[in-house]
Amino acid sequence: MQISWLADVLTAAGVEVVTEGDWLNRSAGADFDPVGVLWHHTAATVTSADNPHPALDICINGRSDLPGPLCQALVDYHGVFHLISANRANHAGKSGGSGPIPAGDGNTLMVGWEIDYAGDQSGTGGPEQEMSQAQYDASLKATAAVLTKLGTDASYARGHRETSTSGKIDPSYIDLDSMRADVAAAMGEDPPPEPEGTPFQMYASGVNVRPTPDTTGAPVGNIADPGTVYVLCQIEGEMVEYDGLSNNLWAKLSVPFEGYISNLFIEGPASLPVDACQL
Ligand SMILES: [Zn+2]
Repeated sequence: MQISWLADVLTAAGVEVVTEGDWLNRSAGADFDPVGVLWHHTAATVTSADNPHPALDICINGRSDLPGPLCQALVDYHGVFHLISANRANHAGKSGGSGPIPAGDGNTLMVGWEIDYAGDQSGTGGPEQEMSQAQYDASLKATAAVLTKLGTDASYARGHRETSTSGKIDPSYIDLDSMRADVAAAMGEDPPPEPEGTPFQMYASGVNVRPTPDTTGAPVGNIADPGTVYVLCQIEGEMVEYDGLSNNLWAKLSVPFEGYISNLFIEGPASLPVDACQL
């Protein structure tokens, strides 16, 4: 596959694009069938407004140990996308598998952005530099646009440290779950729906959820931690005693399991401020 559409797709997404020479034909081999996008940092020198893309030549031409192109695009300090290749590039190495990205040849599976900042080199006494806001914003837009074009979703956006089998740390200082949430938002994917019912805090842990408002039925689930439950309604059932208290009201839950727990295990008054269940 050749992603000759990359310039148009990025431009349409509001990303500033510069094409670098013969980017359409620059290639590191034929095997290219991307399903995802991989984020890197270059770990070159510290970038700035005056020195926005020190790694550009290396990404185009490669290194003595690795021929170029080394990414499909380099993202400079200002968030400008420099398009280097519309074909396979040597950026990912072997993928160990991450999320929906399978194990295999990372350079076949993914489009790569080399985001030009120093990252965390404190381990070797080097500089520490975060991604610029302009780089982050442009990379989000570009990733959302490319995943939309590829027909995949935000879970196909990964960081090199997630797919690497050789201990890569890039991209430094980026929470990749937050990045994927931001990509999903940029793609207009719906956030998960709010559960039905009224949220209440659990008072006890290890509580069985029952199919009926009593302790006779086999549990449909067990709430291990005293988190939040969503109550649809309450109903009179078996009298339960716990911690010196007794109550015959049961809450019908929607989340985390569909079923009943005694009101004794929920913080609040004995009778919760919810509707009575309609039989
Ligand atoms: Zn990398």
